[in-house]
Amino acid sequence: MPEWVGSASVMSAAVMGLDVRPVSVEVSLIKGTPMMQIVGLAQSAVREGRERIRAAAAQLGLHVPGLRITVNLAPADLPKSGAALDLPIMLGILCAKGDLPRRALDGTLAVGELGLDGSLRSIRGALPIALFAAADPRVSRLLLPAANLREASAAEGVAVGGAESLSHVLMGLKNGSRLPPPLALLRPSVRRTGESRPGNGGFDLSAVKGQPAAKRALEIAAAGGHNLLLSGCPGSGKTSLARCLPGLLPALDVREAVDVTAIHSVAGLLADGSGLRRARPFRAPHHSISEAGLIGGGSRPRPGEASLAHHGVLFLDELPEFGRRTLEALRQPIEEGQVRIVRAAGSACFPAAFTLVAAMNPCPCGFLGTPGRCRCPEEAVRRYRRRVSGPLLDRIDMLVDVPAVRWEQLAEAAPGETSEDVRARVSRARACAAGRHKTTNARIPPVRLEEACGIDRGGRSLLRKAVTHLGLTARGYHRALRVSRTIADLEGRAGVSEDHVAEAIRFRGPC
Ligand SMILES: [Zn+2]
Repeated sequence: MPEWVGSASVMSAAVMGLDVRPVSVEVSLIKGTPMMQIVGLAQSAVREGRERIRAAAAQLGLHVPGLRITVNLAPADLPKSGAALDLPIMLGILCAKGDLPRRALDGTLAVGELGLDGSLRSIRGALPIALFAAADPRVSRLLLPAANLREASAAEGVAVGGAESLSHVLMGLKNGSRLPPPLALLRPSVRRTGESRPGNGGFDLSAVKGQPAAKRALEIAAAGGHNLLLSGCPGSGKTSLARCLPGLLPALDVREAVDVTAIHSVAGLLADGSGLRRARPFRAPHHSISEAGLIGGGSRPRPGEASLAHHGVLFLDELPEFGRRTLEALRQPIEEGQVRIVRAAGSACFPAAFTLVAAMNPCPCGFLGTPGRCRCPEEAVRRYRRRVSGPLLDRIDMLVDVPAVRWEQLAEAAPGETSEDVRARVSRARACAAGRHKTTNARIPPVRLEEACGIDRGGRSLLRKAVTHLGLTARGYHRALRVSRTIADLEGRAGVSEDHVAEAIRFRGPC
C-alpha cells in the first residue's frame, strides 16, 4: 500500500484569446518510485514544465526523493498551454510536502514560468489574468514574475506581487504578509501612472507640405473614425500622411489603454517591465502578410494586426499587392469592430475597432498622370485597380488623391497647422458624436441613420442625387451620410446640411 504524504491545491489561470479561465492546480504526493505526472489536458509546454520544476527545485536544494507526484489541472476539459503553470505547480508540491505553510497560499492566484536556475520569466496575458483576479472574490492576491508587475498592476482591486525568482517567492510567502522588497506589492496609488499624453510618434502634420485635401481627409477620419484610401504616385507623401493620423486622435483613456495593453500582452508583444500602453497603436503590416497574420488565428488563437491596431490605425500600404483573400477577411472586423476565431481548441474573440488607412499607386508604375512618365496600358491600369475588390472599396469612406508636390510648392509652403491644433478640433467633434450616440460616427448603426444624423431636406436631396450619379450602394450611401455627420460635428453644427453632404461626396469620387 503506497504511503500518502500530502496534497495541496493552488489557484491559477489559463488564457484563451483574451478570455481567462480559472485553473485549479491539485498536487498529490505519495511515497514510491520518483516520478511526476501532469494530467488534465496539459499541452507540451506544460508537460515540459516537469523538467524546469525539477531543475529549479534542485537549485534551491528542495530535493523530492522517493516521491510520486501527481499534478491534476482542473477543469480537465480546458486545454492548458504555455509555461505559466510552472510556478503554481511548484508551489503546490512545496505545500503538499510541508515546506510551505498551507495558509501561505490562501487567496493567492499564482502564474509564472520557471527558468532552470529558479528564476521567474515573464508570461503572456498578465494584464487579462490580473483583471480576472480582481473580479474573482476568492482571490485577494496575484503572484507573478516581477517582469509582469507593472503591466498587471493596471488592474485595480487586487494586490499584485512580483518576484524575480522562486527563492524570492518562498522568502515572501514564509514571511506571511511582510513581504521582502523583491516580492513587492504595488500600492494602487502608483499604479496607473505612465506616459498619458497623446503622442504623435514623431510625425507631425506641420511637417507635411501641401496636400490640403489629404490633410482635411485625415482630420475628418480622425474625428469620425472613418476609413481612408490615399492614392498617389510614389514619393507623394502617402506614408507620412498616414503616420500623422495617430497624433490627431485624442489620448487613449484608461479603459482603452487597458484594452490595447491586454491585446499586446496576449500577443507576447509587451517588453518585460512595461506598464499600460498609452500611445494609439499604428500597425503597418507588409503586403506579404497572411490572412492569419492580419486578422488573427493559430491553433491557440492569437490576435492579428487588425486587433493589434484596436483603438488605433491599421495602415495598408500598396493595397493592391495584398492577397485577395487576406483583404476579404478584413471585411468582418471593419463591419463589426471585432474578429471571431473558431478553432478545435476553442474560440476566441478579439476586438478590432481600428481606423483603416490604405494607400495605393494610381497605376502599376505609379506615375499615371505625370506627363511623360507613365506607359501603362489602359487595361493594365484597370486590372491593377480591380485587385482591390469592390466589397472592400465599398467599406472605405473616403478616397483621396495625393498628387506629387512640385518643388516650388515645397519652397513656398508656409508651415501648416500642427497635429496638436487639429487634435483639439477632433476631440471637440468626437465629444459631440459621443454625446449623441455614445460611439464614433463611423459606427452609427444603419437603422434610422438619417434621423440619427439630423440631415435636412437639402442634404437629403443631394445625397439621393449622388446615389444615382455615383452609383452608390446602400452601404456607400450610409458611409457618405456618416462622413457628412462628422463634417457637421467639426463645424459644431447640430444638423447635417447640403454643404456637409457635398464635401463628403467629393471624397467618394473616383480616385
Ligand atoms: Zn503607370
